[in-house]
Parts: sequence; structure tokens; C-alpha cells
Amino acid sequence: MINLISDTVTKPTPGMLAYMMRAETGDDVFGEDPSVNALQERVADMFGKEAALFCPSGTMTNQIAIKVNTKPLDEIICDVDSHVYQSETGGYAFNSGVAINLIQGTNGKITAGQVSTSIKPGFDWQPLSKLVVIENTNNKGGGSYYTLDEIIPIASLCRQKGLRMHLDGARLFNALAETHEDTKTWGSYFDTISVCMSKGLGAPVGSLLIGEKDLIREARRFRKVMGGGMRQAGYLAAAADYALDHHMVRLKDDNDRAKQIGEILHTMPYVKYLKPVQTNIVIFQLQDNIKDDDFLVLLKTKGILAAPFGENTIRFVLHLDITEDMMFSICDTLPKLV
Ligand SMILES: *Cc1c(COP(=O)(O)O)cnc(C)c1O
Repeated sequence: MINLISDTVTKPTPGMLAYMMRAETGDDVFGEDPSVNALQERVADMFGKEAALFCPSGTMTNQIAIKVNTKPLDEIICDVDSHVYQSETGGYAFNSGVAINLIQGTNGKITAGQVSTSIKPGFDWQPLSKLVVIENTNNKGGGSYYTLDEIIPIASLCRQKGLRMHLDGARLFNALAETHEDTKTWGSYFDTISVCMSKGLGAPVGSLLIGEKDLIREARRFRKVMGGGMRQAGYLAAAADYALDHHMVRLKDDNDRAKQIGEILHTMPYVKYLKPVQTNIVIFQLQDNIKDDDFLVLLKTKGILAAPFGENTIRFVLHLDITEDMMFSICDTLPKLV
């Protein structure tokens, strides 16, 4: 089976497994796992920040970020398609007691102008606008990405108005593979940054929250209360370390393959609408006379697994477990469907 359901479905490679087996470990709740500590320092340094925190998931790093950047009765501002709004079980309200102010962006991307009109003046009867969450790449937006030119005006507005900035960078490295912008510059515009090791990078588990020392010290407490304090997590940190060394360089291949599939789908009569393909995600809506369930079954009979993604819509995600042969088979199959 060719599994395009998500880039989270990858299995550790033999090289990664061997590296994990050799990891030096300790008890990370006591801060004594050398592999975790090394990974945290490495990733903090990549973004020019003082500290980082290794967590079990990107949902946890986002939730902790909201927690450390806000107080109850504050509000967060983000695009309506954001993961923090759509896919984290309403955790912003549950964990942080904050309201959410949603922007109707373009393919998941918001502008400084939109943020500006969303910031509330701060009357007693209003939640206090406190945190802007930027998602890069944007999952529901079809893997769209921001350039720094788009981030800088949002960041200066936030600085001027006293708002914090969080980057949900679950797939940030797929974006940077396109723009060639560097992580340190990106880091300088945000208070906190979350990156996932378990998506395109191909580690089995893990995300990191990155920020200055005081924020990350507080984040450690919230990780613990959420049950995210892990013990010999060094085996997982080693997988992430290996992924940064060996899998970062190939993310561009996933983006290119997604674009290649996009070019095929673009001309297919069964496709009603294809979101612009910018990184490793392909999202397309089917013509009204074709049901998404039927289409998914048809794909499955051809050996391809994909995800339903809303209104008669399908998502493919490219990743490192897709071989050259599989790619050939996908490109051969898509024009012959329906
Ligand atoms: C996957 C993802 C996350 C985190 O998801 P987990 O499954 O909890 O690791 C966060 N934000 C975005 C945009 C994502 O795609």
C-alpha cells in the first residue's frame, strides 16, 4: 500500500533505529537525559533562542505555548483553519481559559492588516488580545507557506501593540526548503516556536517548544501537569537528532513530488478545485458527481491510501517512506481514475 494519509505514518529507518539503540539516556524529568538535553540545546540554538523543551506531540507544544503566553480572559488571534483551533480539541479554552478570535485568511494565511483590525481595544467587557498564532506551513491551507516579508509586518505590529507571537511550525522545515530562509531569522520574530520531528522529518515521536529560558522553565511545569514528563526519552530524542542530520535535506523532494502530483491532478476531469501546491501537501475537491468515499475506495483498490479532508475533498501528503517506484505508480494511476 502507498500511504499518503499523512507524513506522520513514516517508520524509523534502519539507520535511525540503530542510532536510537545507541542513545545515552537518563531520567528527563530530573533533566538528566543527555540525549534530550543535547537535542534541546541543538534546536534552541538553531532558532537563536536560549532553551527548548522536548514534548510528546505538537499539540502539547502548542498548548503549552498558549499557556505560557497568555492568562485566563485573554484571547488568541489566528486563522480559522489553524490546527490550534481545528485539531486540538478546543484545548486553548480548556488548558488556558482563553477566548479565540478567528481570521478568515487566504489558504490559512493571515496578514498584518487583518491582525490589526482583529486586535480589541481592551474594554473591561472584552477578552484581552494577547497572542497571535501563525501556522507555517499551513495544513488546511494546502501546505501554503509564509515568507519573512509577510511575517515582519505582523511581528512589528504585535511588538507595537504588546502582543506575543507563537509559530506553529509543525512543518516549518518544508517551508524553509522552499524559501531558503534561515531558522535564526525566523526565531527572532517569535516568542515561542513549535516544531514537529514526527512529520516530514520522519522521527517516530516528538516535538520541541523553543523560547527564552524563563518561558521554557515555566513550560516545563505545564508539560509535567499535562502528563508529558517522560523518563528515558533519550531514545526518542536520538531519533529526532538523526532526523535533523539525515532527513532535513530531503524535505524538498517531498515538496517537489507533491507539485508533480498537483500538475497531474490539475488537468484531471474529476478534480473540481485544487489548492495551490506549495510544499508536501496536496488538497483537492472532487466534482459534485463523484463522492469522496467512493473515490477513496477506488484509490484503495489501486493501492493508494488517502485522507478525506472536508467537503468532498481529499488530502495527499508526501513523505520519506514514498519510494521512487511508489511515486511512479501514483503518477501512472491518477490519470486513469474515474
Ligand atoms: C500535526 C500538526 C500539529 C501537531 O500534531 P501532533 O499530532 O499533536 O503532533 C500541530 N500543528 C500542525 C499545523 C500540524 O499539522
